[in-house]
Amino acid sequence: MTQHHHIIIIGAGFAGLGLAIQLKKSGFNDFVILEREAGVGGTWWVNRYPGAACDVQSHLYSLSFAPKADWTRQFAPRQEIQTHLEDLIAAFDLAPHLKLNTEITKAQWDEHTKQWHLTDGNHQHRSAQVLVGALGGLARPAWPDIDGLEAFNGRIIHSQQWPNDLDLTDQRIGVIGTGASAVQFVPHLAKKARSLSVFQRTPNWILPKPDRPIGPILQKLYRFFPPARHLTRLGLFLLLETRLPAFTRWPALSALHRRKALKHLKQQVDDPTLVKALTPRYAMGCKRVLMSNDYYPTFNLPHVKLIDQTIAHVTPTGIVDEKGNTYPVDVIVLGTGFQATSPIPQGLIVGKDQIDLGALWANGPKAYKGTAVHGFPNFFMLLGPNTALGHNSVLLMIEGQIRYIIQALKEMKKNHWQQVEITAQAQTNWNERLDRTLSQSVWNAGGCQSWYLHPVSGRNTTLWPHTTIRFKSLTKRFDHGVYACK
Ligand code: NAP
Repeated sequence: MTQHHHIIIIGAGFAGLGLAIQLKKSGFNDFVILEREAGVGGTWWVNRYPGAACDVQSHLYSLSFAPKADWTRQFAPRQEIQTHLEDLIAAFDLAPHLKLNTEITKAQWDEHTKQWHLTDGNHQHRSAQVLVGALGGLARPAWPDIDGLEAFNGRIIHSQQWPNDLDLTDQRIGVIGTGASAVQFVPHLAKKARSLSVFQRTPNWILPKPDRPIGPILQKLYRFFPPARHLTRLGLFLLLETRLPAFTRWPALSALHRRKALKHLKQQVDDPTLVKALTPRYAMGCKRVLMSNDYYPTFNLPHVKLIDQTIAHVTPTGIVDEKGNTYPVDVIVLGTGFQATSPIPQGLIVGKDQIDLGALWANGPKAYKGTAVHGFPNFFMLLGPNTALGHNSVLLMIEGQIRYIIQALKEMKKNHWQQVEITAQAQTNWNERLDRTLSQSVWNAGGCQSWYLHPVSGRNTTLWPHTTIRFKSLTKRFDHGVYACK
C-alpha cells in the first residue's frame, strides 16, 4: 500500500528538523520526515569519534526559531548538540511525523500524477506532492584510493562510522588525514594508543580555539533575559561575517590570523623539523581554517609520529610511505572526509524524463539557490550545491532555504499550482554568476586542493561566496517568475 503525504522530507538533521518545525508553524501538517539512522541528528548522530565537537560557536550554531539558552561551552561538544536536536522533537511535537530506520532507496518523479514516488529499504512505498532532500552535504564518507587498503588485516575505521564499542587501548594506530575531524580525534587517540602514526598529505592552518565553559550564571541570564542571548548571537554573527572579504577578495586581510596561527604552532611544537612539516604552504582559507588547542602538542609525545610523506601502499600489517618506510599498525583510522562534490548517489533521485540526479551531477552539482534543480519539479534541497560556508554558521543558510521553501509551498497552495520547476535559464545564470565570483576567491585560487572543488571539473560546487545576509535576502521570497508553474 502506498502512503501519501503532501510533503516528504528525507533526513532528520538540523535542516530536516528545522523545516519540519517551520512547516508546522505555517500550518502544513501533512508531512513526514524519513531518516535512515536509528535517531535524529544527521551529522551529529553519525559522527561519534572521540573529541567530536562543533567549530562554530554554540550560540550561533542553533536555529534562531528554536534556540537553546543553556549551552555549557562556547563550542558545544557533539553530545550536547545531539541532545539539543532530540529535545526539539519533544518541544515541537515532531514524533508523529518521524520515521526512523527508513532509508530511501529511490525517489522518482511521476509526470502523470505530478507526484514523487518513494521506495524505502523496508520495501514500503510512499508518494508526495513535494519532496525535500535534507540529506546533508557531508553525509557520504570518502574512502581513499590507496593500494592494498582492502587487504589490511586489522580494523579500518572511518571517522564518520565510529563504532560505539571501539577500544583502542594499547593499539598501534595509523591515522590517514589531518583535516577538521582528525584534529579533533588525534589527541584522544594518543591518550590510548601504544603508538600513533599520523599520515599528513597537506598541513592545515590551525588557530587557537577560544573555547571555554559557559557557567551557570550566564546560562541563567541567557534563559531568563533573552536579549542577552540575542546580543551574543548578533556579536558572533558579525564577527564571523566580517571574515568573508579575506576569503573572497583581499587575502591580505588574513595576515593577522596567519601570524597568529604560525605563532600558535611554534609555541606548541618543540621540534623545528616538525614545525616546518606542520607549516601550511597555501593561502589561509583555501581549505577550512581549523581550530585546536591540543592537536599540535600531541606531536611532542614520544609515541606519536607525524609522517609527511605520501602513502605508497598498505600491507596486511602496516602502512608504507613513498620512501619505503613501513609503519606496522593494528588499526587504521581514516579522517579522509566526505564525498562533498557528489552528495547524491546515482539512482537515488530520478526526475523528469528519467534524469538521474547523481548522474546529472557527475561533473559537479548545480542547482538554483542551492535549493531547486531544473528537471526535478516539486523537489527542493536543503544545503544543496554552493550553500556551505567557509566563514560563518551554515545554519544561517539552512534558515534562508527553509523560508524560501515555505514561501514556495504557500504560493503553490494559493495559486493551485500542481507543479513548480526552476527554468534551465535561471539555473544557468545563477551558476555562471557563482563561478565568476568564486574564480577569484581563495578557495579556488589559494593554491590548494580541497573538498570544495570538484575533482574532475575543478568547479567550486560547495561554497557560497557572498554574505549570509545576501543569501537571506535572496531567499526571502519565492521568485516564481523564474519557475515554470502549472
Ligand atoms: P577533510 O577536511 O576533507 O580532510 C580529509 C583529510 O584526509 C585531509 O587531510 C586529506 O588530505 C586527507 N586525505 C584524503 N585522502 C587521502 C589520501 N588518499 N592519502 C592521504 N591523505 C588523504 O575531512 P574532515 O576532516 O572529515 O572534514 C570535512 C569537513 O567536515 C570539514 O571541512 C568541516 O566542514 C566538517 N567538519 C566540521 C566539524 C565541526 O567542528 N563543525 C568537525 C569535523 C568536520 P589533503 O588535505 O591533502 O587532501
